[in-house]
Amino acid sequence: MTFKNTLEFAKELDAKDDLNKYQQEFIYPKVNEEKVIYFTGNSLGLQPKRTKKYVDEVMNDWANLAVEGHFYAEKPWWDYHERFANPLSKIVGALPSEVTVMNTLTVNLHLMMVSFYRPTKTRFKIICEEKAFPSDQYMFQSQVHFHGYKMDDTIVEIKRRDGEHNIRLEDILAKIEEVGDELALVLIGGVNYYTGQVFDMKTITAAGHKVGAYVGWDLAHAAGNVKLELHDWNVDFAAWCSYKYMNSGPGNASGCFVHEKHHHNDQLPRFAGWWGHNKERRFKMEPVFNPVHGADGWQISNLPILSLAPYLASVEMFDEIGMDALIQKRDLITSYLEFILKEIAKELDGNFEIITPSNPLERASQLSVLLHGEGRSLFDYLMKNGVITDWREPNVIRLAPVPLYSSFVDMYSFGQILKRGIQEVR
Ligand SMILES: *Cc1c(COP(=O)(O)O)cnc(C)c1O
Repeated sequence: MTFKNTLEFAKELDAKDDLNKYQQEFIYPKVNEEKVIYFTGNSLGLQPKRTKKYVDEVMNDWANLAVEGHFYAEKPWWDYHERFANPLSKIVGALPSEVTVMNTLTVNLHLMMVSFYRPTKTRFKIICEEKAFPSDQYMFQSQVHFHGYKMDDTIVEIKRRDGEHNIRLEDILAKIEEVGDELALVLIGGVNYYTGQVFDMKTITAAGHKVGAYVGWDLAHAAGNVKLELHDWNVDFAAWCSYKYMNSGPGNASGCFVHEKHHHNDQLPRFAGWWGHNKERRFKMEPVFNPVHGADGWQISNLPILSLAPYLASVEMFDEIGMDALIQKRDLITSYLEFILKEIAKELDGNFEIITPSNPLERASQLSVLLHGEGRSLFDYLMKNGVITDWREPNVIRLAPVPLYSSFVDMYSFGQILKRGIQEVR
């Protein structure tokens, strides 16, 4: 499609957009009395209007039924989480029994490492990405120390080549091959949080398995954003947060995937609690742990229903739309934003570059823009003028047009504000 940097053209794209109507389902903050252009759905998604109803329902059931709500609430709490299995499994490409909701992301990755990082004298190394999200780095450090190993001997980071912003698939595959028999685990972010690069999860998973390692994915920036086929890719485990692209609200419950092939493996250690216990016998208060054969078997505590309620609202909205429709709009709007950025750069001889891969197969909603000149003052200008982006040191602005609630006119308007901003701060 040939794009144009005009309001008229942006309006035409909005008119043809099947998902345009979903903008009415969200609540936008306002700046200068106008709804903002929101580019930080990769950090905290906007609040869907329908969420309040789901939360109110729990509050009311709690008020009216108290403990009886476990069994007699509108949606009984004792198996509330089972409502996620179907819709969530479609979002991440899994069987319903392979997904569960519990805890928060880093906690779930730790729990998954308890089961899938079992270092031995000869096989103990972990492959991860260079500059992984800090929480993941701290997780690796603490896990490695917990098992009595040293970071330098254990962690193998895949690096970017000099002068390049993204990690090459061939370099990941070569490193997996090289570490070979010593490789215990590959654990990488499916989408890099800084650059927005999407990794070839299928190929990397197969390569890890070929040398006998487990392969897991941190899907914080991938869930609800990228087409995932976790079951078919044979991924061992994955976890994601629900408050980024899945709009469940600050710090809300995480999702977790454990491949079916591990559901009956009694040899896998895990940290257990009563909610992972055989469902039929959970309330018999038996002394010996007998896990549910499925991802639910990794649950520990009874679930935070007030945290699940907004997540359920979100998952049902995704189910209504389907990932394919989302991804179709995602690619169009991201390409349009890329076009706008390039137009502005041309007009103003702009001093910035997009460091996200230009290949649509290697990116999703996010474009990361590296500023060479204007820096932080430009970011401040954008925020004051109703463009909510985020700033990552040393000088990157991340822009995520989220297909559920971003419009093509937003992209055009953003371009105009960016242009005025660059002119003003120069
Ligand atoms: C957002 C994000 C996290 C956040 O972890 P929490 O445990 O939810 O605080 C972790 N890893 C990555 C890659 C992220 O993008």
